[in-house]
Amino acid sequence: MKFQDVISINDFGKEEIEYVLKTAKRLENELNERKILQYAKGKILATLFFEPSTRTRFSFESAMHRLGGSVIGFAEASSSSVKKGESLMDTIRTVEKYADVIVIRHPREGAARLAAEIAEIPVINAGDGANQHPTQTLLDLYTIKKEFGRIDRLKIALLGDLKYGRTVHSLAKALSYYDVKLYFVAPQGLEMPRHIVEEISDKLEITETNDLESVIPEVDILYTTRIQKERFPDPAEYNKIKGSYRVDLKLLERAKETLKIMHPLPRVDEISYEVDKTQYSAYFRQVWSGVPVRMALLGIVLGVVE
Ligand code: ASP
Repeated sequence: MKFQDVISINDFGKEEIEYVLKTAKRLENELNERKILQYAKGKILATLFFEPSTRTRFSFESAMHRLGGSVIGFAEASSSSVKKGESLMDTIRTVEKYADVIVIRHPREGAARLAAEIAEIPVINAGDGANQHPTQTLLDLYTIKKEFGRIDRLKIALLGDLKYGRTVHSLAKALSYYDVKLYFVAPQGLEMPRHIVEEISDKLEITETNDLESVIPEVDILYTTRIQKERFPDPAEYNKIKGSYRVDLKLLERAKETLKIMHPLPRVDEISYEVDKTQYSAYFRQVWSGVPVRMALLGIVLGVVE
């Protein structure tokens, strides 16, 4: 199987998702065997980050190095000619002369799609505004499979800023391919966009609520997200809603023993630090999944792994 770009999870069918997860597993096994991999030897990844990132950028870079390739790029647009007024189109036309694959994060929705239309080399979306974060979703699914041995027959709550959170937009769509029950738990005003609910509601059962406590005893996974402060048009609106939910030991008293808490990170204050050492926390293991999954994606779009 081969695909050229990774722009939106909507471009993926279940078969493609499963293929990425299987390829990632194989690559992870090779890493665990301490093999030095050379699949991407001689290939160059360009990372263009117009928005802050820690995990996504580092894990893509780590993944490319682990594949035996090399990396160029910027972590801040202000250090590139964008600062001088260069358009995204011209930046892409330039960078593609230097690299074999582009990973781009941009505050504007649709920026990655535009980049893919311009570039002749593969483009991977590392987050476009509040729209999509497809590679995060693939690593989330990979983590769920590792934690539970399956994705089907799980009850999964997506908690937090479901309005602006791009990770939950992509994840909700991908989970609709599986036999799961979803809970969308958001403070008032930050609910999942209607178009996403409508798109998937005939495929699976969804409960929408702002009552986190009532959901806790039922779920197998609590996928927590931070409030996306930078997307609020009015800071006063953010100030009103910040701190409106928090996962702490008290809340978890009524959780299933086997509950796993996931989070795309960064965390602000929505999971208290005391939760980190409990059996519930899976979010730092989730961070690791970014490496094999992004190795698989880079390998597939470059046509160097099958
Ligand atoms: N790191 C994730 C993202 O870039 C989640 C977040 O920022 O809250 O979307």
